[in-house]
Order: sequence, then C-alpha cells, then structure tokens
Amino acid sequence: MPKFKPNTFKEIYCPVCGTLNIVERNQMGPTFHVEGMQDIDVLHDLFYCPNEEQDWHMEATDLRYKIQGISSEQVCELYQRDLDEILEAHACHLPESGKFLIVYDEIRQLKQEILAKGKEIYTIEFEMDYGPERHSIYFFDKKFYLVISDYEFEDDLKDYSTFAEAFANPVLNTAIENTAAITTSVFSVEEIKKMVKFLIFEEKTILINGEPHCVKYLPPEVE
Ligand SMILES: [Zn+2]
Repeated sequence: MPKFKPNTFKEIYCPVCGTLNIVERNQMGPTFHVEGMQDIDVLHDLFYCPNEEQDWHMEATDLRYKIQGISSEQVCELYQRDLDEILEAHACHLPESGKFLIVYDEIRQLKQEILAKGKEIYTIEFEMDYGPERHSIYFFDKKFYLVISDYEFEDDLKDYSTFAEAFANPVLNTAIENTAAITTSVFSVEEIKKMVKFLIFEEKTILINGEPHCVKYLPPEVE
C-alpha cells in the first residue's frame, strides 16, 4: 500500500490494473521500513487499489515484476501475453493519458509559476539510473523555494525566508558520485567549492557554472 506526501496527489491509478486507488488522507504512521531502524511516524496519504487482495491481481503484479527483470525478449513477450489476458478478463484499462499519479492543480500551478517567474538561484543535477534529477532553489514572492524534480519528495515546494535555511538540505548541499553539474546565478566557483559537501571518493569532473571542475572528497583538517 503506497504512502505518499499528504495533500499532494489528487488521484492515483493502480500501476498494475489501472483502477482508481482508494485514498485515506492524513494518516499517521511509519512510511519506511528499514531493518534495524526505529520507525518514525509521519503524516501521509495512504493509497491502495481496491483489487489488490484478489488472486488475479497478485498474479498480474507478479508478472509485472517478472517482465521488468527479464532480458530475454521472447520470455518477456510470453509474460506480457499472460498479463494482457488477465487484464482483459477483468476489464482493466490503464489510464489513457499514461499518467498514474495526478497532482493537485494548485500544487502543479505553484510549481509552474515558480519556474516561470522565480529567479533560479542554485541548481544541482544528478544522473540517476532512472534518469536525470534536478533540485533547485528559486527566489519567488520574497521567499526561497525548493523545487525538486519529483512531487513525491518530502521537501518539494517548501519555502524558507533565507537562502541558508533552504540550502541546509542534503539533497541540495551534497554532491555524490552521480552529481553531474552545479549551477548558480549568485555564487562563484570557489564559493560553491566551499559550500557544497563533496562526498566523492574517486576524483570526478563535474560542471560548476558551466566549467568542468575536478572534485574529490576532502577529509576535515586535523589541527
Ligand atoms: Zn490494481
């Protein structure tokens, strides 16, 4: 049962059968289960497919996982045929728009307005396996807004009164192996090198304000 940041998604469609999920908003409870770690209760919206307990749905979910993890095209086609049959037998339709997560209009509009009218102060870009990620700080309407590539991110669209408060966030102030570029309209390359934590253990070239720079983790100096 997926749990999402509260009051962000208006509707979610099941990625397996395409049915509109049932939602229970503003639930309190743990959202991540990491072994050995204490569960922390957070506010979230709980979404679930009304069909998820049915045998055919479990079978379809299983086939979906198998299709994702298989390299053989022929086997993949066989699984896909089985999956299509199950979905057809239960009159399932995946959303025509291809979108499974529908964000509230107000939230989408706020993000668009910030991107269109705000001043981009700082952006850090990552090349992840699933595609590029881009996290920024924009100055808009007298506040500093975090604009994260994904609506699901807890801190997306949070606002702060100072840049320092907005920047005090590991998704912005830490460069990792996947970091590709850092761009600012305010700071120099030298300032960026001091501000950002480079958790990169092998030397790597990233673009800072458009210029290639070799960066590496520097252990703290011992007096
Ligand atoms: Zn479903």
